[in-house]
Amino acid sequence: MEKFGFSISKGRQINYDLNDRRIAEFIIENEPSFRLCIACGGCSASCTAGNFTQFSLRELNILISRGENDVPRNDIKKCMLCGKCTLICPRGVNTRNVIFLAKQAFRKFDSYAI
Ligand code: SF4
Ligand code: SF4
Repeated sequence: MEKFGFSISKGRQINYDLNDRRIAEFIIENEPSFRLCIACGGCSASCTAGNFTQFSLRELNILISRGENDVPRNDIKKCMLCGKCTLICPRGVNTRNVIFLAKQAFRKFDSYAI
């Protein structure tokens, strides 16, 4: 097969019916501003934890919204709840509370100990 200098990603489908949306729904119920996220990445750019690790709140927001919880379940431990991301968010998402609630939700629905 001829090489073009790039590769094509494998097809990927998101099946919302199979994904677990309970974490996202718990967050939205208790912090409705979570819905306002436009995935701009401002929070990730300002993130204290993101300066030292691969942690990205933008990615977490997207994955949790889709009900894809495997990466968030572990990555969320890296957040130190400093709140810098909340100050920077152009959409007024209370990101610190979103993370706090996500940790609660993982404990509640997922037997996840933090
Ligand atoms: S800064 Fe706010 S709007 Fe942008 S990705 Fe983060 S939470 Fe979403
Ligand atoms: S609260 Fe967490 S996600 Fe937000 S800037 Fe601090 S370490 Fe990063």
